[in-house]
Amino acid sequence: MKFGGTSVGRPERMHQVKDLITRSNEPTLVVLSALSGTTNALVGIGEALAAADKALAKERIDTLHAHYLQFYPELLVSPAARTKAEDILKEHFELLNILLKISFNEAIQRDILAQGELLSTKLFHALLEEQGIPAVLLPALDFMSIDENSEPELGKISDRLKAQLGQHPDNHLFITQGYICKNHRGEVDNLKRGGSDYTASLVAAAVQASVCEIWTDIDGMHNNDPRVVDRTRPIAQLSFDEAAELAYFGAKILHPASIWPAQLHNVPVRLLNTMDPAAAGTLIKAEVAEMGVKAIAAKDGITAINIKSSRMLLAYGFLRRIFEVFEAYKTPIDMITTSEVAVSVTIDDLSHLDQIVEELRRFGTVEVDPNQAIICVVGNQVAETKGAITAVMDSLVDIPVRMVSFGGSKHNVSILVDAQFKVQALKSLNEGVFKW
Ligand code: ASP
Ligand code: MG
Repeated sequence: MKFGGTSVGRPERMHQVKDLITRSNEPTLVVLSALSGTTNALVGIGEALAAADKALAKERIDTLHAHYLQFYPELLVSPAARTKAEDILKEHFELLNILLKISFNEAIQRDILAQGELLSTKLFHALLEEQGIPAVLLPALDFMSIDENSEPELGKISDRLKAQLGQHPDNHLFITQGYICKNHRGEVDNLKRGGSDYTASLVAAAVQASVCEIWTDIDGMHNNDPRVVDRTRPIAQLSFDEAAELAYFGAKILHPASIWPAQLHNVPVRLLNTMDPAAAGTLIKAEVAEMGVKAIAAKDGITAINIKSSRMLLAYGFLRRIFEVFEAYKTPIDMITTSEVAVSVTIDDLSHLDQIVEELRRFGTVEVDPNQAIICVVGNQVAETKGAITAVMDSLVDIPVRMVSFGGSKHNVSILVDAQFKVQALKSLNEGVFKW
């Protein structure tokens, strides 16, 4: 069971989490995020230090400290538990103040970022202790690791975690930190922002859990963007493939990388709402019988690049040479469409756009369209569901479509439009495809 920042962000929410994890007697491993706002605050402290502004860093440490000094007396009542919390705060805020004094580097930055999850899990463990609930706090830094490419070492994680769990045969409740890990140099590192979901999925895969529950503050993944479209609803079930397509498209509820470990070990993932535990949420698993369109999502900040060359006609190896340019600049390509003499691709990382365009000019005429949005329609077998693609295209009659990518998988149709049409596209697809 993984609980996000808002689920542990207030003392009363932590109490709610305590109730949720003790509802059943099944062996449970609980992964916690930092209290909401903490990681952002730690990023701010790191930024101030990177800019050599120690006064600002100190001010930010003190503000964060004040927040926790207010938090713990509302969480814990017994003098013993409060003393424990005071010791925890002392340890971690003293460390932050020491880091302030030594010369700043990236490893220190990552040490700073790790304090959030260490604080939340230790305070939560103190709460369980106060309530007489037996639970073991497992330090994630003892088993979570990433290799030199920042990829989690699932095999090693599994071996270490199982060994640790084996040392507590009489316990069935374990608490650990999301997000943080050790890197190949043995330094403290992390799984990138939002990475607690990824921890949960890795841990679930590592111990072959019966389910991986991700508890957040909304009732599952929605079938369209609730910030843009009225009348969206949670999706009851998704396959791993569908969920992976959606998670990439900024359906902010789930870290995009968190699908593969669960999928690899076939652990079903449930998205649940701490504020409304009875709500059905979204179940993500291998097989999903339901056909047709399930969700629509959009991602903006996309740039399309078109390369036109008569040399492409009947040539082989042409696409490879084009892709090598993107590879050289470590820039992922999202959508691709081709014609006999041209190829269009999209990217969202623009850091090397100028160099990429420069090199692509060797192959032909290059055109760049900035400010595009990918609209992604996801569903089981959309490609084979009668009328699905017609309904999608009919909904977009009034919108100029720049690219369409269809058939890459059976679960997805991606459409590229100018970003100014994004909201209109999401709204008309909602009407046209879901037939309210
Ligand atoms: N605390 C980290 C963050 O805010 C990780 C997480 O919550 O998933 O990004
Ligand atoms: Mg999150």
